[in-house]
Amino acid sequence: MADKIRMTTPIVEMDGDEMTRIIWEKVKEELILPFVDLKSEYYDLGLSHRDETDDQVTADAAHATLKYGVAVKCATITPNTARMEEYHLHRMYKSPNATIRSIMDGTVFRAPILAKGIDPYVRSWKKPITLARHAYGDIYKSVEIRAEGPGKAELVFTPEGGEEIRETVVEFNAPGILMAMHNKDASIESFARSCFSYALSLKQDLWFSAKDTISKTYDEHFKQIFDRIYREEFKEAFEANGNTYFYTLIDDAVARVIRSEGGFVWALKNYDGDVMSDMMATAFGSLAMMTSTLVSPAGAYEFEAAHGTVQRHYYKHLKGEETSTNSIATIFAWSGAFKKRGEMDSLDDLVDFGEKLAAATIRTVESGRMTGDLAAITSLEHVEKLSTLGFISAVREELEKMI
Ligand code: NAP
Ligand code: MG
Repeated sequence: MADKIRMTTPIVEMDGDEMTRIIWEKVKEELILPFVDLKSEYYDLGLSHRDETDDQVTADAAHATLKYGVAVKCATITPNTARMEEYHLHRMYKSPNATIRSIMDGTVFRAPILAKGIDPYVRSWKKPITLARHAYGDIYKSVEIRAEGPGKAELVFTPEGGEEIRETVVEFNAPGILMAMHNKDASIESFARSCFSYALSLKQDLWFSAKDTISKTYDEHFKQIFDRIYREEFKEAFEANGNTYFYTLIDDAVARVIRSEGGFVWALKNYDGDVMSDMMATAFGSLAMMTSTLVSPAGAYEFEAAHGTVQRHYYKHLKGEETSTNSIATIFAWSGAFKKRGEMDSLDDLVDFGEKLAAATIRTVESGRMTGDLAAITSLEHVEKLSTLGFISAVREELEKMI
């Protein structure tokens, strides 16, 4: 075999929990270290170590990502009361992903991994559709009131040093419910910039959809911010790639998405993105075949699998039983990180390795060798169901043929 592939800048490596932590180590041992002279700055985000550092390690990892520009992350436990007991935690830490997202002011892009034999439920889809969800405000930070009986509901804004603005929402003559929500220009702008830069890096069109015909101030404002940032900052670069930005109403968008071939980025407001991401993940075939990329407005990238730590499989593994956990999204996170690191540092060999790693993984599945979750849904006829480690070894065989 030729010399190992050289790197110049480290990738920020965030280790994680449970079954995905087992997978992490094996993926490195079998698919990365034999081929790449890996430079990484390692952060252990496993729950015990987060607890030992009072969660400082999570913040440090996020800051390192902003510094170096590329990170790869393993799935991590978000603590709840059961985990407090299981890990004897000092306190209930926030979700690491939420902490990292807020430090990076980032937007999450989710994209399916396509392989022949793992068919989308929608026949027309030939290419991945990447979904971007705005992660601030709207109903997730709303204020709600239950009106127990008749009364007047008003929306009031008191500007600092200015005159108050007051709108009647409704005159209740019977019980009802009320909600007020908000968003911030700065957050919408960051979201728009992340979406445009990500679509640009994929050389794909960007779609954005809201309901400005009904929400003439709120959704209209989202639309205007997207329009302005596109015109002022991205239009030329998009046109140079032969791509466009396309706004349409959310109900028109869902109809078009279903009829489309895929191959674009779809930006959605917080609630729409919440709902649509689960639908799209399922419609493309499997949650285990989704990647998730967090992008900061200035273009720092963190790659990970969209699924969690696969706790149920981990407990089987601890009992010594054989597992068949799908490592594809984790492998793709590494592949994405190598491609991005290689692009940023002009290291063609590293980009090439990232591409081969992904291709070898897909070839393995398309040759009929896959884990149980895919074996259960594939349309291929001759299928060999492999264990967690068996699948990683099969990918290694394919990769060696390509390198
Ligand atoms: P999960 O880990 O995504 O797993 C849910 C179920 O989906 C699994 O039990 C399994 O189904 C199937 N599945 C998911 N990934 C799979 C894979 N790679 N291969 C095969 N099957 C897979 O979600 P969870 O069990 O709700 O959460 C477990 C932990 O993960 C929680 O502590 C949660 O906080 C954390 N989490 C972390 C992240 C993240 O770090 N990004 C995201 C979500 C959840 P079967 O059991 O039917 O085989
Ligand atoms: Mg959801």
